Amino acid sequence: MLVDTHAHIFLEQFESDFDQVLERANGAGVSQILLPAIDVASVHRSLELADRHPALFAMAGLHPSEVKKATDEDFEAIAKLASDERIIAIGETGLDYYWDQSFNEKQHDFLRRHIRLASELNKPLVFHDREATWDLIRIVREEKEASSKPEQIRGVFHCFGGPADVTEAVMDLDFYMGIGGTYTFKNGGVPDATATVPIDRIILETDSPFLTPAPHRGKRNEPSYVRLVAEKLAEIRGLSLEEVANATTENAKKLFDLP
Ligand SMILES: [Zn+2]
Repeated sequence: MLVDTHAHIFLEQFESDFDQVLERANGAGVSQILLPAIDVASVHRSLELADRHPALFAMAGLHPSEVKKATDEDFEAIAKLASDERIIAIGETGLDYYWDQSFNEKQHDFLRRHIRLASELNKPLVFHDREATWDLIRIVREEKEASSKPEQIRGVFHCFGGPADVTEAVMDLDFYMGIGGTYTFKNGGVPDATATVPIDRIILETDSPFLTPAPHRGKRNEPSYVRLVAEKLAEIRGLSLEEVANATTENAKKLFDLP
C-alpha cells in the first residue's frame, strides 16, 4: 500500500469527479490520503471529507501565501480546530518568498505560531518552502532550542528537492522529506539533489492538483499518481516497488500516527 501524504483534493478542481478520484487511488494501491489545509475554510471542508471517507485525514493550518491577508482571528480559529482529535497534523505552514516578499516578517511570525501550536498539541508539522529554505531551517532550529520539549517539534519538509547540505540540516532537525512529482521530471535534477536522503526519512506525496508527475505533466494531478513517484524512486534507487511502498508507508504511519 501507498500513502499520499499531501493532496489538496478539497479544491474545486476535484468537485466533478471526486468519487472516481478516490476509486482510482484505491485501484493504484493508495489507501490513505492526507489533506493539508490552505485556509480556515479548507480545514472545515477536509474534516467533512474525512468524516465521510475513512481513507482521508485532515490537517489544520494557514498556507504561507495565505498569511498576507490572515488575521489573528484566523489563527485562533486554526488553533481551535487543531485540537480536534481528527486533525492529524499542523499544516501546511512554512515560508514562501517566491510570489511576494512584502510580508516576510508576518510569515515568520505565523510560522512560529504554527510551530508552537504543533508542539503544544504534539502533532507533526507540514512545511512548505519556496526560496526560503535557510530562513525556515533557522526558525525551526531557534524554536527547538527555545522549547522545553524539542522532540515535539517534528514533521516533514514537503516537496523536498535537496540539495545535500539542506538534507543534512533537515536530518539534524529530525524531520522527514516529502518526495513528489518533481522527482519524476526529466532534467529536473531532483533525484541527484536528493541522492543522500535515506529511505527511512522519505514519505511520498502528490501535492494534487499541482506538480503532476511524468508522463502526465500539464494535466491535473491526483492521488493515484503517487504510484508513479514510488516507481521512479524504486527505479533510481535500485529497489523494488514493494520495498519503496513498505518503507515510505511505515514512515508516514509513524510520523502521522495513522491507523
Ligand atoms: Zn500543498
